[in-house]
Amino acid sequence: HKPNYNVVDPPEGYSSPGFFATTLDKAVGLARKNSIWPLPFATSCCGIEFMATMGAHYDLGRFGAERLSFSPRQADLLMVMGTIAKKMGPIVQQVYEQMAEPRWVIAVGACASSGGIFDTYSVLQGIDKVVPVDVYVPGCPPRPEQIIDGFMKIQELVAHESLRRRYSPEYIALLKSYGIT
Ligand code: SF4
Repeated sequence: HKPNYNVVDPPEGYSSPGFFATTLDKAVGLARKNSIWPLPFATSCCGIEFMATMGAHYDLGRFGAERLSFSPRQADLLMVMGTIAKKMGPIVQQVYEQMAEPRWVIAVGACASSGGIFDTYSVLQGIDKVVPVDVYVPGCPPRPEQIIDGFMKIQELVAHESLRRRYSPEYIALLKSYGIT
């Protein structure tokens, strides 16, 4: 699931990114960044922290993510929260595949990121075994502030996503700064 970084090279005959890859990109990026529709895929305790994150005190809706989506076709951010058994892996993959591009993925908490304390035969040792992950949120469970921090990192990725293709140079630089190469 490694991204194909080669796609950022301008196509033959193009010497510069042009209007669509600069001004319009920025305007669309700004709009998208502030209207993300997350799909919460919560299986256990980390999902409870997400409920707190959506509540009045932490209010993720302030960031334009008020509208949760329980249909993959109307979602652009998959938030996986909780222990994912190996048997659930294909379901996570199917949900991801049903989402339209552009789409992003956050692994919330130790279980979703790496299997967490469940280093055992039945638990998927990180959802990145089945879907590409853009941001990992550490913690068991992460506090709502950490989930918000992860969400804001996704917002930065969204703002820098090229309209014409994924993985613009700015996008790749951001991914690298998150430790994902
Ligand atoms: Fe529960 Fe910890 Fe796993 Fe989150 S990371 S689902 S809090 S065991």
